[in-house]
Amino acid sequence: MRTSLTTLWRTTAALLALSCSVGASAATPDGDWLLLPERVWTAEGDAAHAGWAVLVHDGLIAAVGQASSINAPANAQRVELPGTTLTPGLIDLHSHLFLHPYNETLWNDQVLTEPQDYRTLLAAKHARDTLLAGFTTLRDLGTEGAGYADASVKRAIEEGLIPGPRLFVASRAIVATASYGPGPGGFRPDLELPGGAQEVSGVDQAMAAVRGQAARGADWIKIYGDYRTGPDGTTAPTFTPAELKAIVDTAHLIGRPVAVHAASDAGVRMAVEAGADSVEHGYGASEATFRLMKQHGTAYGPTLTAVEATAEYFQHYTPGKDKPTERMREAAQAFRTALKTGVTIGNSSDVGVFTHGDNWREPAAMVAHGMTPAQALHAATDVAAKILRQQDHFGRIAPGLAADLVAFEGDPGQQIESLKHPVFVMKAGIPYPSPDQTP
Ligand SMILES: [Zn+2]
Repeated sequence: MRTSLTTLWRTTAALLALSCSVGASAATPDGDWLLLPERVWTAEGDAAHAGWAVLVHDGLIAAVGQASSINAPANAQRVELPGTTLTPGLIDLHSHLFLHPYNETLWNDQVLTEPQDYRTLLAAKHARDTLLAGFTTLRDLGTEGAGYADASVKRAIEEGLIPGPRLFVASRAIVATASYGPGPGGFRPDLELPGGAQEVSGVDQAMAAVRGQAARGADWIKIYGDYRTGPDGTTAPTFTPAELKAIVDTAHLIGRPVAVHAASDAGVRMAVEAGADSVEHGYGASEATFRLMKQHGTAYGPTLTAVEATAEYFQHYTPGKDKPTERMREAAQAFRTALKTGVTIGNSSDVGVFTHGDNWREPAAMVAHGMTPAQALHAATDVAAKILRQQDHFGRIAPGLAADLVAFEGDPGQQIESLKHPVFVMKAGIPYPSPDQTP
């Protein structure tokens, strides 16, 4: 089934390649497309609409509704997508394009031994894998020691040089001095190590880092609000309230939202109180803290898949066979509490810890822990777009929005695992693999 649908589309793509004029740039979304899936899930409401179609014109959605009600121009490219559900392009709000799974190479070794040039080429491959998996937008939360290279990957994607999702990048990310890695703990004390993020101490350095990162391309400011800096490696807050406030206020002044990594209850609470826009992980957050998040409108990124993946790598956890580890239970509990308290939950996987292109695992995990498939789809489409402040540009299937559209085999609104099987991907009106960028 999957193969035949994919083949059908690939054949169409090949024919289109022949009909496209030589030299046409993949970045130019010219022309009209009529997409004819089995049903359309628009992200407005929970139900999919059988028999609907979508018309695309010059990169934007021109019409959506009953196929018979849509007046497509005679020269529109018709794409038949039998057996599929068309959804808005998916969004993952927590990725690391510059990392690859830790069971391939430990995080320390990636940061210490892999040249930035190599990591950038790898990031380009990861970007392609992500797009072809149906994820048309990523918030990439830090290059983890690869400097400002994310800005270049984003530029190359925008210029149509390489295929990839829309990127919202955080550049180097910001940490409190000696509070992240690699080292200094665990290494000989006289070594100067490259950092996984930019280190700061004090309000002045914190403000300077925000301004410097923003100037070099950061769309979001990412900070590590807590880390394993407590006695015996326990998780403890890293920044003082004054430092946190200085970072958030400086970022907001220049229009950059702030994402805070925080796993402990105290770390999450401090981030929320300082005015963070999203909190990542939050595994140890209490119900009272989630209520505070709800009150402040702070978004939550559960990153359930990162926890499962690290359990697989380092604790011999086998999915479907072993009992969840303590950390997995803690993460699941936090997720359920967030869901119960009505906190805004965005699809945030921490992909890079696990394989790029397997981003579907996070919506599947959210369903496994209590969301309906429709809720998980919202978290990966319109809700995520809102967290990015991009709801007027993409995230739903509605006229005037960008034509970021994916057809999945089956019906992900009923069976979330359908997200494993994209058969057609379009970003801004360009189908991928595109005629110019056939992988
Ligand atoms: Zn992360």
